[in-house]
Amino acid sequence: MNLEADVCIVGAGPGGALLGYLLAKKGISTIVLERHTGIDKEFRGEHLNQDGERVLKKYGLYDQVEAAGLLLMERVEYWQHGKVIKTVAPGVGERHVGIHVPQKNLLSVLLRASEPYLNFKLMMGTKVTELIFNELSCVTGLKAMNGKQEVTINSKIVVGADGRFSTIRNLAKMPYTKITHGYDLLWAKILSPTGWEPTIKNALVNGDQLALFTQAGGFIQIGWNIKENSYPTLKRQSCAPFIEKVIEAFPELAETIRTQIRTWDDFTLLKVQSCHCPTWVKDGLVIMGDAAHTMSPTGAFGINCALLDADVLAEVLSEALDKQNLNEAQLKRFEEARRDHTEKLQQQQRVKETTYQDNFADPVLS
Ligand SMILES: Cc1cc2nc3c(=O)[nH]c(=O)nc-3n(C[C@H](O)[C@H](O)[C@H](O)COP(=O)(O)OP(=O)(O)OC[C@H]3O[C@@H](n4cnc5c(N)ncnc54)[C@H](O)[C@@H]3O)c2cc1C
Repeated sequence: MNLEADVCIVGAGPGGALLGYLLAKKGISTIVLERHTGIDKEFRGEHLNQDGERVLKKYGLYDQVEAAGLLLMERVEYWQHGKVIKTVAPGVGERHVGIHVPQKNLLSVLLRASEPYLNFKLMMGTKVTELIFNELSCVTGLKAMNGKQEVTINSKIVVGADGRFSTIRNLAKMPYTKITHGYDLLWAKILSPTGWEPTIKNALVNGDQLALFTQAGGFIQIGWNIKENSYPTLKRQSCAPFIEKVIEAFPELAETIRTQIRTWDDFTLLKVQSCHCPTWVKDGLVIMGDAAHTMSPTGAFGINCALLDADVLAEVLSEALDKQNLNEAQLKRFEEARRDHTEKLQQQQRVKETTYQDNFADPVLS
């Protein structure tokens, strides 16, 4: 199959899906490729902050996401010895300290909004395999596999919105430095007990960090920080100490947790990493979102950064296409507009990670 488009976006995560919609709305012919066949894929970040909320409101999408289902967090709490020792409430004039949006709700709204545009095409179950370059080393399209069918797409520009393990970044040989954070995350999801308030709760138990995130739909996500690469060893032992750790931190959940988390099969491992890419653009190619600046889960910035990237990139691409100039210097305007902000947030993430214990009165004894 041979297709043509002005822009071919690889990845229908929050960044790629919003960019696809914004370009389609501008009348730019756009193809979005997504390797998964559905949008209810593996767990990704699901908390929006004020930045993400603002971008969605700017394009009239927030109300639709709200209708699909979201939950406003009322406060962040820090717990020690089974009691709340510190609370962070919404700032003056703010309604929440974060919004939980199941990613399938966000993505379905973004992709559905693009559907009416005849200049927009979404290809699910389509995985990129190769970039196409012209004789001047400018990217002019890509090859992908849709099931067993090879698809060739000629486009004026390719956007890699394909996440932290970006294939596009690798195929374009764009350098990057992977940054590990000394910890990985174990997650488990439970049904919340009746009357559970929409909160984020943090705790420190014997020096180990754990957190509870209330989720839309009546769930609580539990996250345990574990030493980087320690999961295979841990898994050979009983998971009981992990279960007891949450119960010690949040005694009111004892019964709920004991009945719902029983074996390692109830846990999911997430390898934590971020990355630094010295350049996000090449002639005919841009990388954005986690592909350009992978964010760690700390502080829940990643989706929000991907949405902000899409907002800026839609303008830069529209102007570049108008000028018929898709070279690196023109595309660099996107990177110039977004790099400082994302790097400051990555820095904030590292500070939050290394000073987490300071939130607790007596971290040594806890
Ligand atoms: C455990 C965890 C918790 C987090 N919590 C939060 C949070 O609460 N709030 C927050 O803002 N951020 C959070 N983050 C970060 C956030 O998930 C990411 O920063 C965000 O999803 C990045 O969006 P993206 O669109 O750039 O990439 P992604 O969401 O990673 O989307 C990339 C898409 O590209 C597709 N793809 C990949 N390769 C190919 C290919 N070869 N061909 C076609 N398609 C491909 C993938 O299937 C995927 O759909 C968290 C991250 C983790 C790991």
